[in-house]
Amino acid sequence: MVERNMPETQIRKEIKEKGPLPQSRFMELALQAYYSGEDSIGQDFTTAPEVSQMFGELVGLWALDLYQQMGSPESLTYVEVGPGRGTLMADILRVAKLSPSFSKALDIHFVEFSPRLKALQKQRLPQVPVTWHESLETLPCAAPLLIVANEFFDALPVSYYLREQGILYERCVDVQAGELVFTFQPLTQEKGPEERWEESAETLKWMKAICRRLKTQGGAFLCLDYGYEEGEGETLQALFEGEPSSPLRHIGASDLSCHVNFGILKQEALDQGCGVSGPLPQGYFLNNLNIKQRLDSLKMQNPSKKAELEAAYTRLTHPVHMGLLFKVLAVVSPSSLLPLGFHHYAT
Ligand code: SAH
Repeated sequence: MVERNMPETQIRKEIKEKGPLPQSRFMELALQAYYSGEDSIGQDFTTAPEVSQMFGELVGLWALDLYQQMGSPESLTYVEVGPGRGTLMADILRVAKLSPSFSKALDIHFVEFSPRLKALQKQRLPQVPVTWHESLETLPCAAPLLIVANEFFDALPVSYYLREQGILYERCVDVQAGELVFTFQPLTQEKGPEERWEESAETLKWMKAICRRLKTQGGAFLCLDYGYEEGEGETLQALFEGEPSSPLRHIGASDLSCHVNFGILKQEALDQGCGVSGPLPQGYFLNNLNIKQRLDSLKMQNPSKKAELEAAYTRLTHPVHMGLLFKVLAVVSPSSLLPLGFHHYAT
């Protein structure tokens, strides 16, 4: 296991050598240690597949429909980026059994950098042949693709900029009187309105690579995460043992994340000539996919779990829970593919 204070030692060393550390580099070091450490999914934060099997099952049906729209190819490269505990995959595979040809076509690939989570994924999917990767570069190049990323982009490093009185600043981490603090370092003179904004070069890099792959191999990408399409200034947040915390405390032991800028993701997909659906709030998406019907049938099968199932449904879809803040974006190539779930939901 990675030493919990390792990232702080490295952060202080880099500050000593090079001066204030950009927020994105700080996040990179902290997040690598965090995801390599003890399993925190379900402790610091709970993701949709961990809330209920309904989520993964509906994503599975979504995937099955696209597979059929693609003409039921003999082989389909299914890629999950940042698969966490492997729960989403397990739920998708249960649904995939509905179509023997889909089950047979699925060639499963995980992109995961955490050895600890990789081990959990193996445990969760004992009989399933999975190939692990550290990046998209080593994925197979021939078959069409189905790529899924749930709460992946929010876990990537983000820079934070501020333009004030003609000067552009970047938020950095520095040491003052022995303590880590946030500072704004002037970068350059720049004309423009007074503004604060986030930018994630890392997120854009992944998105560019995903869209390039879709353009050459064909297929679809489903991205689910909390985020926004326009606006938003500062969204960096830390969670330690489920409670909001300072990003500069418990480094490597607290979960750091930022809201995802879906506007940028969408623009990149359009610039590369892919088809785009959404971003649509997760509540609409799941309701469009008939989550209510799945809820009712699970309640019938498990009458003793009725309250638990209803609570999970509310958590996934209600606007005050994950229904509105979480967004879903689908990217396809060719654009004639029509992903399910993106028409507006009327109550
Ligand atoms: N999709 C899962 C887990 C979300 S947590 C779920 O919904 O439950 C984020 C996941 O992304 C973890 O598996 C983490 O190890 C992985 N991850 C984060 N940054 C990564 C990177 N740069 N490269 C590869 N995997 C990464």
